[in-house]
Amino acid sequence: MFESLSDRLGKIFEGLRGRGALNESDVDAALREVRRALLEADVSLEVVKAFVEQVRERAVGAEVTRSVTPGQQVVKIVHDELVKVLGETQVPIDFSTTPPMTMLMVGLQGAGKTTLSAKLAKRMKERQGKKVLMASLDDRRPAAKEQLRVLGEQIGVDTLPIQLNEKPVDIAKRAQREGKLGGYDVLILDTAGRTHIDEELMEETAAVKAATDPHEILLVADSLTGQDAVNLARSFDARVDITGIVLTRVDGDGRGGAALSMRAATGKPIKLIGTGEKLDALEDFHPSRIADRILG
Ligand code: GDP
Repeated sequence: MFESLSDRLGKIFEGLRGRGALNESDVDAALREVRRALLEADVSLEVVKAFVEQVRERAVGAEVTRSVTPGQQVVKIVHDELVKVLGETQVPIDFSTTPPMTMLMVGLQGAGKTTLSAKLAKRMKERQGKKVLMASLDDRRPAAKEQLRVLGEQIGVDTLPIQLNEKPVDIAKRAQREGKLGGYDVLILDTAGRTHIDEELMEETAAVKAATDPHEILLVADSLTGQDAVNLARSFDARVDITGIVLTRVDGDGRGGAALSMRAATGKPIKLIGTGEKLDALEDFHPSRIADRILG
């Protein structure tokens, strides 16, 4: 499939095994390959440019140590910088509030919000013994509410009883009341998505936020999102101030460039990744693993 960046850089530096520092022309040749690899990994152009500049600053003049080739040295610098931009450490879901801790799932239709709601509910229930309530705020597609209800049944997690013709904000408020009365630890609100970002979607999401003051607002995004990733993440973050990002379909063909784009665009942590359709396919996000994937 893809030739890995390490292999490509190895070729550039073939025959150039001399010790000493990396000079500017070696680095520039290498950076052209880095740039190409990042674009192939679907990192947005804007983020690639800024990133390559950062790597250049570190690479020019860097000492090449005895144990590695210049190619390996540049790969290491790129890897380190990727990990840095991706956030270095794992940031868990924050439960530090009075229960029920309200979580809002936002994002485009088909991103994987409903699936993630069920995956998270299952994990919190099984690993942390939390009592979870889920509610679908989709007032347009009855099938979406039904989908969440069925998933809830599968995993033994309660869903808010469905009432016809109720608006998203009203459903969310009813869910919070039910969450308090029923002694739930966590309330997961699954919002309706649209196929693209529009004003109506943003207004609805902002209205739900204002009505419920969620403790976590997770932007759920398909890891195969390409050049739109920056725009998507910025739009949601500017409007509702997300607390984290969850990337889905990391099991797909992509190289995970959306992770870098979204993190760089918002500075918000990527908390979790979805790695399959099954309800157990949820993992904590580890920056170095995604860096490996981006490098190929
Ligand atoms: P929503 O519209 O944002 O609620 O998206 P859904 O949760 O309905 O997910 C849309 C489709 O993506 C469904 O067929 C899910 O099974 C699938 N899906 C969700 N997360 C993942 C994932 O991490 N990997 C894979 N392969 N499929 C996923």
